[in-house]
Amino acid sequence: MAAPRMGLRARLYAPEADPPAAHVAPVTRGAWDDADALAAFAASVDVVTLEFENVPLGAVETLAPLVPVRPGARALAVAQDRLTEKRFLNEAGARTAPFAPVEDAASLGAALAALGLPAILKTRRLGYDGKGQARLNSAADAPAALAAMGGAPAILEGFAPFAREVSVVIARGADGATRAYDPGENVHRDGILRTTTVPAALDADAAARAVAVATRIVDALGYVGVLGVELFHMPDGAFWVNEIAPRVHNTGHWTINACAVDQFEQHLRAVCGWPLGDPRRHCDAVMENLIGDDDAAWPRLAAEPGAALHLYGKAGARPGRKMGHVTRTTPRR
Ligand code: AMP
Repeated sequence: MAAPRMGLRARLYAPEADPPAAHVAPVTRGAWDDADALAAFAASVDVVTLEFENVPLGAVETLAPLVPVRPGARALAVAQDRLTEKRFLNEAGARTAPFAPVEDAASLGAALAALGLPAILKTRRLGYDGKGQARLNSAADAPAALAAMGGAPAILEGFAPFAREVSVVIARGADGATRAYDPGENVHRDGILRTTTVPAALDADAAARAVAVATRIVDALGYVGVLGVELFHMPDGAFWVNEIAPRVHNTGHWTINACAVDQFEQHLRAVCGWPLGDPRRHCDAVMENLIGDDDAAWPRLAAEPGAALHLYGKAGARPGRKMGHVTRTTPRR
């Protein structure tokens, strides 16, 4: 939707028969490992970007010699594996919760001994919105937590007793310039984002430090595009990175209604080599996700003064599925 507004034509590549985005752009349907379909797609576009982080790396490696892919394979590889991600973050000078790899009962026992309790066991790959996670409050929780991983390689994280969760949505251009939106303050329930509020309850120094962490990460990746950086603001004032997402981010949806250049346009500006846009917000905002059957309230939300309703056109509501969001804006305080 941002592309035609910028005079750009978007094309999609997707394995699904009828992805929601098919409403706004033509789709090439193909499997992620269909080299011929990917090559034909590459020949039809000037630049490729990614809409989610679980696009198989092989697809990006097939495309990369044929057409610029931004962000590239490195960012994707880092974001797809929580262990690789944490190691990268620490090497880049960003703090994280303490962590240890877990493959079996023995390595889980060793990780618990090293990290202590409470802790969270997460699958290394394909987890999001709290999926593939198990909380351990006592050593007796270990067998069930391990069973919840279904035999997949995992990572144990020490529990972060954060004061608040915030995120920085940041763009880095092909020329290395960076622009960050104001940090948003996030509330999760059951591991799923419920609300993002801007401004976050951070003083100017803390907000600048959060942006500095995000800047360090995009620079270390040589990143091009928009990246979401989820942070724990710790009681001592430090920021620990929870995870990074190599794409436009749910915690940046408020920018659609509160900024002249929203995160979607900013992403396209970056990947197309345009100058990055001004990320300043012209109002305060609270973004609330519509999850599961929350979107049934759309008639009320559509009638609410000051509320901007966004519905994604997904085919069916399932518990935990993000169906849309509503952003309420108020004058800047
Ligand atoms: P994730 O899927 O890793 O983003 O986790 C989803 C949510 O679970 C986070 O936004 C936090 O609210 C919570 N969470 C995840 N990891 C930790 C941790 N190590 N310590 C405390 N809370 C966590």
